[in-house]
This record gives sequence, structure tokens and C-alpha cells, in this order.
Amino acid sequence: MPVTVATAPFDVSAEERTVTGLVDALRGDPGTRVLLVSGDRAPVSRGHAVLSFVAPDDVAADAEWAFLGRDSDGVALLLAAVGERGSEEVGSDGASFREVGASLPPHEAELFVTAVALGRWLVEAAFCPGCGERTRTTMAGWARHCDGCGREHFPRTDPAVIVGITSADDERLLLGANAAWGGRMFSCFAGFIEAGESAEQTIHRELAEEAGVRVRDLRYIASQAWPYPRSLMLGFHVTAVDEDEARPDGEEIIETRWFTREEIGRALRGEGDVSLPGGVSVAHHLIRAWHDAGPGGEG
Ligand SMILES: [Zn+2]
Repeated sequence: MPVTVATAPFDVSAEERTVTGLVDALRGDPGTRVLLVSGDRAPVSRGHAVLSFVAPDDVAADAEWAFLGRDSDGVALLLAAVGERGSEEVGSDGASFREVGASLPPHEAELFVTAVALGRWLVEAAFCPGCGERTRTTMAGWARHCDGCGREHFPRTDPAVIVGITSADDERLLLGANAAWGGRMFSCFAGFIEAGESAEQTIHRELAEEAGVRVRDLRYIASQAWPYPRSLMLGFHVTAVDEDEARPDGEEIIETRWFTREEIGRALRGEGDVSLPGGVSVAHHLIRAWHDAGPGGEG
């Protein structure tokens, strides 16, 4: 089962990024479609079902531009990113990726993620971290060059792990309730990869901290770019060494709970008093994939 936001039906057409003056030329073409993004918001229409694009002339002069690729008809797609203060430019039809990502067509959800991730970097990382000079964008908005010290800079991505923990007999799944979620919502355990760590080391450290469990048999399942603020979520299933070790850290995680497949099935159908993460997230995919792979599942 694919993670819908990890598919790429439109063509990023990366080979075009080196074409001199590409973005300026496309800004002068009235056939170009522009996705206007402010922070994590973009215009949507038809009841949040599709993204809304504008013509290049409709964008404020201070926007930062990038080439996003071409749709299946060959029409060029540009990103115009404005700061959070420019949210009025996105208009009253604007919505965040968090709000509408699950209801958009998969290729538009992916385009939205790319636009938010790239747009924030374009707006917020204008100055060279090495020497402090203002940089200029190159590679059609996908890189910056510093004329002060000669360095090249690229959009930063912060890797994180997200993990579903299974029992040794694979009959139960351990999830946690985060203090920030208000009690009813359970999800997988997650944490950022720290400097010098491998993904595997992060999993062992985070699960010991948050859920109190030692784990084995790490199985990579899927990844997902998550633009809050600029993460790449690496999704795993792992097996608990001893199910009785599970206990919440009491700070970030306020409750850990083992769920049967039947209980997860009910929650996925929206029944009962436990809620699970929304369909746009890799956490949802990890939970559903475990549920569907077992007896009584759909797979
Ligand atoms: Zn520099």
C-alpha cells in the first residue's frame, strides 16, 4: 500500500533547473501556473479538494520563486513563496497542508509538501550561515550561492524516525498518547535523529526514553516528507523485547497502551473512543499496514 504523499505523478523536471534564466522566462509566460505559498498555507478551491493556481502577474513583487516542475500536459509549475506576514496574499481560500493534505489528490498533496518545504527555506534562509552575506538563488530556486565566501547552500531536511512497536507474537501494537494531543489520540512513537546518530540508534534511544521498551527486528516500512518544519519521517515497525516493560515517560508521553488488531480496526473505522492519526500521515500508514497484514486485516 503506497503512502500517497510519497508518490510523484508530476514531473519535477530537475534537468531544467540548470537552464539559464528559466524562472524569469516562465514568469513572463502567461501559460505558467503559480502555486502561491505563505508559510504552510496555499489557496485551495472546490471545498478543499484541489489546489488553486494563479498567473505569474498576480504575485507580489517581493515573492521568492522556484521551478516546481511540469504537469502531465507539460505546463510549467512555479512556486512563489511569501513570508508568514504575506498570508493575506494567499487569500481567504487559503488552507494549511495539515488541514487539507488528506483531501487533495495525491500528486497535489506532494506538490504542496514540496512547495511548503522549499518556500520556507527560500523565505527564511536568505543569508549565508558561513559569512553572513545575502545569498542569491541558483538552480531555479533549489540552491543558493554566496558571493561573499563562495559556498553553495541547499534546502535543509531534518531526519526523524517514527515507529510502530509490535508484540513478539505480532498480535498487538503499542501506541502512545502524547501530552500535546489531549488524551484520546494514540499514535506511533517519534523522534529526531540527533547529530552523529544512525536511524537505528535513534529508535533504540527514543523508545527507551518515551516508552520504556527495548526493541529488536527493526523493519523499515516507508518514508514521508513532513513540512513541520522540514522533516523527513523514516517509518519503521519494530518488535518489543519484553511487552511488560512498556511505560510512558510521563512528560512527552502520558500513556502507553497495547492494542489488539480488532481494537485498531475499530479505531481506523472511527468507532469507539480512541482516535488515530489522520490518513495523510506516515503514522497512519504504519498503523494501517500492521492492521491489514494480520488475520482479520484487509491484506
Ligand atoms: Zn558566505
